[in-house]
This record gives sequence, structure tokens and C-alpha cells, in this order.
Amino acid sequence: MIAVDGPSGSGKGTLSKRLAKRFGWQLLDSGAIYRVLALAAIHHEIALDDEEALAALAAHLDVAFEAREDSEVVSVMLEGEDVSSSIRTEECGAAASKVAPFPAVREALLRRQRGFRTSPGLVADGRDMGTVVFPDAPVKVFLTASAEERAQRRVSQLQNHGQSVNIAQILADIKARDDRDMNRSVAPLRPAEDALVLDSTELSLDEVEAKVVEYAQSRL
Ligand code: C5P
Repeated sequence: MIAVDGPSGSGKGTLSKRLAKRFGWQLLDSGAIYRVLALAAIHHEIALDDEEALAALAAHLDVAFEAREDSEVVSVMLEGEDVSSSIRTEECGAAASKVAPFPAVREALLRRQRGFRTSPGLVADGRDMGTVVFPDAPVKVFLTASAEERAQRRVSQLQNHGQSVNIAQILADIKARDDRDMNRSVAPLRPAEDALVLDSTELSLDEVEAKVVEYAQSRL
């Protein structure tokens, strides 16, 4: 199995998808679970700082990843509703990072995440895959990039979708989310001691993938 961690916009999501496809393994997008939890909390009018209610919601969260027959895209389902697009907004990402620091919430989601580790293998994408959820993963990668580069990538992505953007705002949002993810007391965003740390600021996705595949093949 391969654990891929890093901040938002580092390219770890795309890298993880590519690795899962290349090895023919399962993919765990753990960020999507936190995003779905945040969305469910908003739907059920649960305050994003109510740890007890959020943990209860997390324990019974009706979330599913459904492969679509006609494409490689996976639909994210909440209570039977397709929320694939609604969980991808900046607001939902920010809300996810507000529910994520609570220990009881993380604990409630632990077993569910570990359940993705099935044969023949798993690529797990998140913030604490290598440190907390799968500490025994034989291959751990921590992918990072400067905040400015990550903001620029996000701007290009939004522009490609025809959306207008405010780069200063996006950079500020990225920094605020990094700050919440890195400075929380439980499962803060940091590389595992035995992780390969890769800075993708100056690297293309193909270059990142090639480095990680070479590293993984030397360890698997
Ligand atoms: O990776 P993504 O941007 O979808 O994650 C959304 C938020 O969920 C992150 O900013 C982080 O606060 C939280 N998260 C987490 N642990 C993970 C994955 C995501 O705390 N393993």
C-alpha cells in the first residue's frame, strides 16, 4: 500500500488516482469523507464546532463511493444523493477543515478508512495516512508545494471551469487551511518520519509520478 499525504493543492489527489490506476489498487480519498461529513453537518444543521454531535454523525455517516460504469469517475454519495460536485467547493473544503480537528470525529472515522485496505492494495490520500491511519504502510509519500504555486494551480483549475477568480483570496484561503491542518493537536499535517518528502513546486505531475513509482518499486 502507498500512503500519500500533503496540503491542499499539492497534487496528491491526482497523483493518488494515477498510482491507483497504474497498480490496479483501491483508492481512498479520505478528504472526501471529511468533506461529506461537513456537508452532512450543514444539512442536519449541526454546528461545525459541536464535537459530540459531529462524532455521532461521523459514526453513522451514510457515505459511499460508487464507480460509474461509463467512466473512471467515482461518484461520492451522501445518504443516497450524489454530492460529488457540492463537496468540491472551497466552502466545503474549509468546513471540512473545521470539523477535522476534533479527536472524537477522527476516531469515529478511523475504522471506516482502514476498511479500504483490501487486496490487492490501496493508495490512501489525505493528511494523516502515513502518520495515524496506516502507520505501517510500506510506502509513504509527503507531497508539498509552495502556497503561491498551489494557489496558482487552483486559479488555473477554476479558470478552466469558466469561473472568475481572486488570486489574493485563494492564497489567503490556502494559507488559512494550511494553518488549521498543521497546527491542530490531533493528527496534524506533517510528514511521517519514514516518508519520502517531495516538493512539487518545480515539478510536473509526470515527473512527480515517475519519482514516486521508482521509489515505490524499490520498497514494495
Ligand atoms: O484533501 P481535501 O482538501 O479534500 O481535505 C479537506 C479537509 O479535510 C482538509 O483541509 C483537512 O482539514 C481534512 N482532512 C483531514 N485528514 C485527512 C484528509 C482530510 O483532516 N486524512
